[in-house]
Amino acid sequence: MFRLLLALGLISILSGACAIAQSNFAALRVADGFDFPLGAPNGDGYYKSRGFMVNGHLGEDWVSLDGPGKVFGAPVCTIGSGVVTLARDFRRAWGNVVVIRHVYLEDSQTRYIDSLYAHLDKILVAEGQPVGRGQQIGNVGNAHGLYAPHLHFEIHKNLSIGVVHTLFAGDLTNYYVPTGFIETHRTLRSSSQWLIATVAYVMPSFPGIPAHPPFRNNMAARLAAAADAKKRSWGFIGSLGTKLP
Ligand SMILES: [Zn+2]
Repeated sequence: MFRLLLALGLISILSGACAIAQSNFAALRVADGFDFPLGAPNGDGYYKSRGFMVNGHLGEDWVSLDGPGKVFGAPVCTIGSGVVTLARDFRRAWGNVVVIRHVYLEDSQTRYIDSLYAHLDKILVAEGQPVGRGQQIGNVGNAHGLYAPHLHFEIHKNLSIGVVHTLFAGDLTNYYVPTGFIETHRTLRSSSQWLIATVAYVMPSFPGIPAHPPFRNNMAARLAAAADAKKRSWGFIGSLGTKLP
């Protein structure tokens, strides 16, 4: 994976996009289902003003039924339990962005997604922080005055995207249609297991984006230490997490 990201970084530098990779570990609690990020859990009081479009709009825009601009400041909640993997001001067209990594069980398989929440007025979480289903992570904003207030919301199948759309095909191999995904994943098999995941994004490096140190995910560190003590490999799924706070 690291080699792949290095290669991607090299390609992007050659093509002028200039991107770097960042790598972290996160311990994830298995998500028991997913909800809507505004009007959580069911999206009550909000609607999709602009949908997902292949090779176009790679997420959905959500606003309030109360009228134009009324969505400003509304609480944005994580669609499911996971770990915050990006929480920073990317400026330009993004503004404040939160990305959360989730793991869930489906068809006896372990599956991962990233959910992305953009143009926020305020970010209320930090990178590396575990979040529970329905927890508020920020407030709806307008990307520093760039747009009419709305939540831009994406779900990534490809876990390298982060906030860099340009290096990946803008289609359903890399993205889910957010509403369709949530509607078909409201209730999932629950589990007390934890999973350690590698988190590595291609990061934008345009001027004005401060470099951040790798994030701290204390549970990942504790599980890694425990795995080390038992001479087990990284990436195991264990019930160990149930014994830890
Ligand atoms: Zn949008």
